[in-house]
Amino acid sequence: MTFEDIEKLKDQLNQYAYSYYVLDQPEVTDQEYDRLYRQLEVMEQEHPEWIRPDSPTQRIGDTLLDGFTKVTHQTQMYSLANAFNQAEVADFIKRVESQLDEPVSFMCECKIDGLAISLSYQDGYFIQGATRGDGRVGEDITSNLKTIQALPLKLRSPLSLEVRGEAYMPKASFQALNEDREAQGKAPFANPRNAAAGSLRQIDPRQAAKRHLNLFLYGAVVQDDFQPVSQADLFRQLQDLGLRVNSLNRLCHNLDEVMAFIDEIDQKRNHLSYDIDGVVIKVNQIDQQEKLGYTVKAPRWAIAYKFKAEIAQTRLIQVEWTVGRTGVVTPTAVMEPVQLAGTTVQRASLHNIDIIQALDVRIGDHVYLQKAGDIIPEIVSVDLDQRPASSEPLDLPTTCPECQSELTRIEGEVALRCVNATCPAQQLAGLSHFCSRNAMNIMGIGEKVLAKLLSENLIKDPADLYYLTVEDFLTLDHVKEKSANKYIDAIQYSKDNSLSRLLFGLGIRHVGVSAAELMADHFGHLDKIIKATPEEIETIEGIGPMISQSVVDFFEVEANLDLIQRLKQAEVNMEQVSESVISSEATSFLLDKTFVLTGTLSHYTRSQAKEILESMGAKVTGSVSKKTDYLLAGEAAGSKLTKAENLGITIISEEDFIEMINEGENDE
Ligand code: NAD
Repeated sequence: MTFEDIEKLKDQLNQYAYSYYVLDQPEVTDQEYDRLYRQLEVMEQEHPEWIRPDSPTQRIGDTLLDGFTKVTHQTQMYSLANAFNQAEVADFIKRVESQLDEPVSFMCECKIDGLAISLSYQDGYFIQGATRGDGRVGEDITSNLKTIQALPLKLRSPLSLEVRGEAYMPKASFQALNEDREAQGKAPFANPRNAAAGSLRQIDPRQAAKRHLNLFLYGAVVQDDFQPVSQADLFRQLQDLGLRVNSLNRLCHNLDEVMAFIDEIDQKRNHLSYDIDGVVIKVNQIDQQEKLGYTVKAPRWAIAYKFKAEIAQTRLIQVEWTVGRTGVVTPTAVMEPVQLAGTTVQRASLHNIDIIQALDVRIGDHVYLQKAGDIIPEIVSVDLDQRPASSEPLDLPTTCPECQSELTRIEGEVALRCVNATCPAQQLAGLSHFCSRNAMNIMGIGEKVLAKLLSENLIKDPADLYYLTVEDFLTLDHVKEKSANKYIDAIQYSKDNSLSRLLFGLGIRHVGVSAAELMADHFGHLDKIIKATPEEIETIEGIGPMISQSVVDFFEVEANLDLIQRLKQAEVNMEQVSESVISSEATSFLLDKTFVLTGTLSHYTRSQAKEILESMGAKVTGSVSKKTDYLLAGEAAGSKLTKAENLGITIISEEDFIEMINEGENDE
C-alpha cells in the first residue's frame, strides 16, 4: 500500500459523499460506500501519518450547502459507529461492560433511514429546526420542518430545550414522489433518506409540505431543568412533552436480547410504513453514557447495527418501453419472478438509457436485484460469468413504441421523449391526468373509460370531454343509462373547479400541484397566465426559470390555445376560487362529518388520511367527543379507541376507510 492508494480511496469516497449529501444522488450503494470506508479506516490505522484533514474519517457527516442560514448546535451532533454482524455487536457490548465495570442495559432503537435534525424550543415554542450539517453547524430548515404535522409547534410544558431526532419520508410518499419524478424525466431519488433530505432543502415550504414527511425524536441536550436518567426515561419525557417517539424501541439487558430484537425488527421492517436501515444500540443510563464519552465522530456508548441489503438473483426476459403523459419513454425490465424483501418481484424500472448503458444489461442475463431504500426493486448488477455467449447489447428504441414517431433526447436530460402531441399513449395518459384527483377530480372516469372513448374517436383531448352526451356514453360497451348520467354529471360538476386544478390538469411540463396553485393564486385568471412573460411568472416566489419557460412554451402552441378556447366555450371556469368551497361540495356524503384518527395506518400516514377526508368535506379533530361521527382506528390504537367505544361512536378500520373514500369517488 502506498500513500497514493490512500489518497485515491479518500478522494473517491469524498466524491461519493458529495453526490450523496450535496446532490442527494448517490453514485454507489450504501453497502459499497461502507465497504470502501472500512477499507480506508484499516489503511489509515496502519499508516496514521498519512491521514489527511480532508479524509471522510475526520468529519461527522453532511457537507454544508450554500443558500441556507447556518445554525450552531448547542452541543455537537454526532454520527454513529457501525457494526455489520453479531461479532461486532458482541465486541461493542464487551468493551462497554469492561470499561464501566458495572451492570449495563441497552436501549435498542430502530435506525430510521432519514436525516438527523435538531429542534429548538423556547419557553415551549418551536423556534428553529436544523440539519446536522457537519455536526457543529447545520442548516436552518425551520419553515420546511414546520410542514411536518407530527412536529409540535408548542410543547406541553414551557421548556427551553434542544431535542434531536430523525426526519423521514414514509415509504408511500417515497414511491409516489419517484413515480412523479420519472414521469417528468427526472432521476429518481435512490432512497428515502436522500428524498427526505432533498425535500427539507426545498426553497418553497409548500413543496416540502407536499412530500408528507414525518419524524421521530430520540435525543435531547441535557440541562438543569431537563435531566433524564436514561434513554428510557428520556423517551417518556419526550412523549410527555408531546414529541413523537418510536414505540418499537426496546430495553435489552444482554447480547442475546439485543440480537433477538435485531432479528425481530429485521423480520418486521418490510411491513413498516417507514424504512429502517438498522438498529441503534445505546447504553441506557445517561451517567454511564457520560463516563464513556465520545470519539471525534461518534459516541462511545452507541453503535449502529446495519442490516444487510437483501439481494435476489433472476433472469431478464425482456425490456418494455412505455410512453408516459409527458412523452417520456421509460424502460422496464421484465424478469422471471423472484422473492425479494417480502414481495414477489417481476418488473423493475431501468429508469433511462444512461442506466442501461452503465449496467450493460442484456436479454437473458442473470441479474442481481435489490430494493432501493428497501422499497423499489432495482437491478444493481449483472452476473457476467453467466452471460450467454450469443448475447448482444440491448436495442434502444429510436421510434415511439405507440405512434412510431422519431424519439428525441433533449440536451441535459436523461430521458428519451416522444414529442408527438397526438401520440395515443400520451393522449390517454394526459386525459387520465386531467381527470385525476388532484387535477379536475372527475370522479368515476378512469383510464378504462377514457381508453374506450379514445378508441371510439369520441374524444382526443380534455376539452372534448365537455362536449360528450349521455348518448355518446351509451354507445360504449357495458355502459348503462345510470352510469352514463353519472359520468356526465361528474364532467359538468368539474366545470366549476378552481383555476389551480385546471392548470395542473393541463399537464404542462414541470407544473406540479403547488406550482399550479402558486400561479393561479398570483394571476387569478387563465388569460393573464397566457399573456404573462417568463419574467412576470418568475416574480412568484418558488417559481424559477424552468417552470416559467415551460408555461410560456405551452401557451405558444396553437393546438393548446385552441384547447383552452374550446374549454372556455364549454364554460369551464378559468378563475381561481377558494379551494375549500369546491372540494367540500364535491363529496356530499362526507360533508361536515367529524372524524378522529388514531393508531397507525398501513396505507396512509395519518396526515394523508386527514388530507383525503378534508378534501371530501369532512372535519378531522384531535379528540373524541359526543360530536365525533367516526373514529378511524389504525393499529395499536389507545385511549381514544376506549373513549369512542364508551361513547358508542362508530369505529371504522382502515379497510372501511378505504372503502368509504372509494365509495365517495364512485358516488360522484
Ligand atoms: P449513519 O447513517 O451510519 O448513522 C448515524 C445517523 O443515524 C444519525 O446521524 C442519525 O441521523 C441516524 N439515526 C437514525 N435513527 C437513530 C437513532 N435511533 N438514534 C441515533 N441516530 C439515529 O451515519 P451518517 O454519518 O449519518 O451517514 C453515513 C452513512 O451514509 C454511511 O454509512 C453510508 O451508508 C451513507 N453514505 C452513503 C454514500 C453513498 O454514496 N451511497 C455516501 C456517503 C454516505
